[in-house]
Amino acid sequence: MDEFEIIRRFFDRETTDESIIAGIGDDGAVTRPMAGRDLVTVIDSMVAGVHFPLSMHPADVGYRAVAVNLSDIAAMAAIPKWMTLALTLDQADPAWIEDFAKGLFAAADEHGVSLIGGDTTHGSEKVVTIQITGIVEVGAALMRSGASAGESIFVTGSVGDAAAGLSILQSGAPSNADTDYLVRRFTRPTARVSVGRKIGALAGAAIDLSDGLFTDTEKLLSASSLSGIIETDLVPLSAELQRTMARDDALRFALGGGDDYELCFTSAASEDEINESIAECGVAVTRIGSVGEGRGLSCTMNGERYAYRDDGYRHFR
Ligand code: ADP
Ligand code: MG
Repeated sequence: MDEFEIIRRFFDRETTDESIIAGIGDDGAVTRPMAGRDLVTVIDSMVAGVHFPLSMHPADVGYRAVAVNLSDIAAMAAIPKWMTLALTLDQADPAWIEDFAKGLFAAADEHGVSLIGGDTTHGSEKVVTIQITGIVEVGAALMRSGASAGESIFVTGSVGDAAAGLSILQSGAPSNADTDYLVRRFTRPTARVSVGRKIGALAGAAIDLSDGLFTDTEKLLSASSLSGIIETDLVPLSAELQRTMARDDALRFALGGGDDYELCFTSAASEDEINESIAECGVAVTRIGSVGEGRGLSCTMNGERYAYRDDGYRHFR
């Protein structure tokens, strides 16, 4: 099977989206942006053996590759629209590609995103690169740099689950309902696109959690030239995570583990106000700390300073 057959069989689908003037099949895709909108462009690569275990189910690889990009779009308060896919394959295994495409389109269809082009190559490792363009009302993209002193720091859902799930996946530990849930939080992250849209007007700054709560919150604060405190007692831990390990270990995964793809944002609004405004989004936010003058991020536990060493994920050290 050559690449043209792969594209035709697995990736070239009909679309009814009128913003797509030309999709797959020409030298470039042509899209027509709406008047009064800014475009938000994100891209993320996943390398087999680095970003996902080689044993991961291809449908999960496809789903996750789209979801991590949707999460960046969510953190910008944008609506995802058009996607391109650069796919490097070590072999043209139709069963693998078919399942991969199923997962990819499952995530894309949840948000009305169309695949409009890509590139298909042979290489020694599987590499999945997805680029998504979204739209947002002019000037309304939510930045990391927009925080103000006095705002609270919030996080959606619960944190630490995906990192715990990955370690369970890699250890091959026997599974139960809780560990299955945690593994699924790694393989099928939920991009908080609808939350991103709703908090656009309420939030000062936002970032999505890919490298770990501590590291990513630090990035937001640094972009805003401000300091912050995370009250570790407030950090939301899922019941599944707490039943699976001791609280100390759960907190370590929550602060340092990556791959949650929850949103972290700052706002002057209260937790109740925000939760009211996102009532239809199927997830709650939790206040975990506050933004202050100065620089740096610190943690507290039971009201006392808690020395936390940052172990956030880095490709190069
Ligand atoms: P070119 O040689 O002009 O770069 P290609 O032959 O690589 O074009 O690709 C042909 C068409 O198929 C293009 O429209 C391209 O965007 C699309 N395409 C290639 N690979 C993929 C893929 N994995 N998913 C979706 N579209 C793809
Ligand atoms: Mg060409």
